Amino acid sequence: MGATGGRPATGEIQTALVKVHLAGVCSTDLQILKGYMDFAGVPGHEFVGSVSEGPSDWIGQRVVGEINFGCGSCENCRRDLSRHCPNRSVMGILNADGAFAEYVSVPLANLYAVPESVSDEEAVFTEPLAAAFEILTQIQLNPGDDVLVLGDGKLGNLCAQALRLSGAKITVLGKHADKLALIKKAGVRTMLLSDWQPRLFEVVVEATGSASGLELALSTVRPRGTLVLKSTIAGNHRVSLAPLVINEITVIGSRCGLFPPALDALREKRISVTPFIEKIYPLHDGIEAVSHAARPGTRKILLEP
Ligand SMILES: [Zn+2]
Ligand SMILES: [Zn+2]
Repeated sequence: MGATGGRPATGEIQTALVKVHLAGVCSTDLQILKGYMDFAGVPGHEFVGSVSEGPSDWIGQRVVGEINFGCGSCENCRRDLSRHCPNRSVMGILNADGAFAEYVSVPLANLYAVPESVSDEEAVFTEPLAAAFEILTQIQLNPGDDVLVLGDGKLGNLCAQALRLSGAKITVLGKHADKLALIKKAGVRTMLLSDWQPRLFEVVVEATGSASGLELALSTVRPRGTLVLKSTIAGNHRVSLAPLVINEITVIGSRCGLFPPALDALREKRISVTPFIEKIYPLHDGIEAVSHAARPGTRKILLEP
């Protein structure tokens, strides 16, 4: 079983029906519910479940699923970059129903078996964790490299934990003492923005999702360093590009990642995710769950159908 195992040569897409065990509410869902992407359908793209309909060798298998459904035949799909397929649908975001439901339909090629030692409560974080690991497929980090992660939310936390596995020296800068404490518990150095003494870093990861974070990120990359943009900051920004040219900064846009490195890290217990969980709501209390998730400072809200 794996990323390409379920795709027949004809390019026709085989799907499985997955019974959802847990689904995570993320900030993208909150934006979608406010109208982002003009999506009309069932939201939810972070899930763990088990296959209830599909090929016989998959039935009952606990799975997580990559969220970009490629066409299977374009140039990007053939290069294993279905997450950049121009004709893709995206679970719970674009032209495909998502996981805030009892069942969700997912192409077999997108499904990954969850190792037995990984609980549902851990596996439901595979998607955001894979996005964090994506950075390591885009840039080479070496032991001792000085890396700054801006933002102490879930994304910043997961990025810091993933990047730390490279041996680089990670510092997370954030505004919230409680969130920074959670990151510190996972073994990463942290700093409150109010204690910040400006200095320059080899690599800066922007994970705040705010325009002010972007500005701070730009001012902390050292000449010839790398700026990784990890949060899609909706809306337009006025950012001067001159410093990027003058300081010869490499800018990397980074979005979704492949699941295997994230699942491996969860299986090896190298990443801690369950402290994020604030509350698990039954699916029929979804409205209440979403409004809880929208409250500032809330950790992860999960839905259980
Ligand atoms: Zn998400
Ligand atoms: Zn395609």
